[in-house]
Amino acid sequence: MFDNLSRRLSTTFDRLRGRTHLTEDMLDSAFSDIRTALLEADVALPVVKQILAEIRTQAIGEKIVENVRPHEMITKIVYDSLVKMLGGDAAELDLSNKPSVILMSGLQGTGKTTTAGKLALYLRDKKNKRVLLASTDIYRPMAREQLTILGNSINIDVLDIIESEKPSEIAKRAIKVGADYDVVIIDTAGRLQIDEKLMTEIIELKKITKPDNVLLTVDAMAGQESVAVARAFHEALNITGIILTRADGDARGGAALSMRIVSGAPILFTGIGEKINDIEQFYPDRLASRILGMGDVVTLVEKAQENLDEKETERLVGRFMDGKFDLDDMLKQIKQMKRLGSLGGLLKLIPGIGKMAGELKDKVNDKTILHQEAMLLSMTPNERKNPSIIFAARKQRIARGSGTSVSDVEKLLKNFEKMQSVMKQMQSMGGMQNMMKMAQDMQKQATENGDMPPEYMLGKK
Ligand code: GDP
Repeated sequence: MFDNLSRRLSTTFDRLRGRTHLTEDMLDSAFSDIRTALLEADVALPVVKQILAEIRTQAIGEKIVENVRPHEMITKIVYDSLVKMLGGDAAELDLSNKPSVILMSGLQGTGKTTTAGKLALYLRDKKNKRVLLASTDIYRPMAREQLTILGNSINIDVLDIIESEKPSEIAKRAIKVGADYDVVIIDTAGRLQIDEKLMTEIIELKKITKPDNVLLTVDAMAGQESVAVARAFHEALNITGIILTRADGDARGGAALSMRIVSGAPILFTGIGEKINDIEQFYPDRLASRILGMGDVVTLVEKAQENLDEKETERLVGRFMDGKFDLDDMLKQIKQMKRLGSLGGLLKLIPGIGKMAGELKDKVNDKTILHQEAMLLSMTPNERKNPSIIFAARKQRIARGSGTSVSDVEKLLKNFEKMQSVMKQMQSMGGMQNMMKMAQDMQKQATENGDMPPEYMLGKK
């Protein structure tokens, strides 16, 4: 859905590749590109202005982080702005009541009935809910039969059809019968366009059913037009959530961005096909990543910003080079690594090494590191400064204190001894290259043993 927008934005970011500093001029030209990209994606002009204002505010507030390049920084800023404009955290249906009532609204042909069925299946299979479906659409021939057939095909109960009933009577009955269910989904009549009668009827249905959720289905393919529809429905019904259908099509996607901003209601789900399970929960951050096509970079920048204490790493490497690296430093290094997030998770973010990350994670898993930390924490400061005093009784105490075994403690100490010999050799041989070569050899060996590779202790990411 967002292919074009995504392509345009990556061209913008690519232009900044290779630059080392982010200047005012660069920002201005990036903004103008982003504006064009958004307009081409069918985002409404007032919405484009809002998005750009948001990006600008973020860009001004954002400190330029060392080691982050301009194109990465801009990607991150645009990403943050998009996520914020799309509603921040993923929104959820309100299912706290028994039964929770969901009132479906929307124009005819936007996928309302299909979505009611999809939701019923989703709630049963993913949320373990007993669901009753009901249709108040007495106008469109076979509308209620369509819902019954749909319900039967997935084994979901559907309120039986009583020919003479009016929509308000059907709604009352649905609530009565629905008392035994966890969720009651009420499908309503649609129109080709918004009209008085439709609105009056659905407002009445809302009064009768007192829904916990008033959902609006909008067709992503309808573009700008659907934004006006969303606004009208929202004014009449105060909708609690939007379901964007036909997100599988090649809609330019602007509607999705505009919709949330114009109506203020969160997008809860996207319909991604005609099949009954073609429904996905909507995550603002995932969509923003997809639009930018560079979610990985964004997360890396975030991690770098939040956590990476370059100075500390430098200090630790310095201690290593001077032969002064002790178990206290090792503990600090582990803490720093932990802040960087789970090892496997971090490695997976780097494009192209996801698979390798999985393999490495099997060998050097996060648990090893946590155990190492626990053991180091169970030592006294004196023991960390002078590991040579750690004899049998102390080893036992450390193992007990950290929930590990004596042989784990011994392994850690042996690893540290190896590091010390590397430090010594390095000092005698001098030079970073030698050190790296040795570290690589050690890493190879340690990885084969399933130990933590010294690479991490050296402060390499
Ligand atoms: P209603 O009039 O709003 O109740 O719309 P329907 O539920 O009858 O759906 C109209 C058409 O849109 C049907 O052919 C559906 O299969 C199709 N449809 C609904 N949702 C989606 C979707 O997410 N993707 C695609 N490709 N088609 C959909």
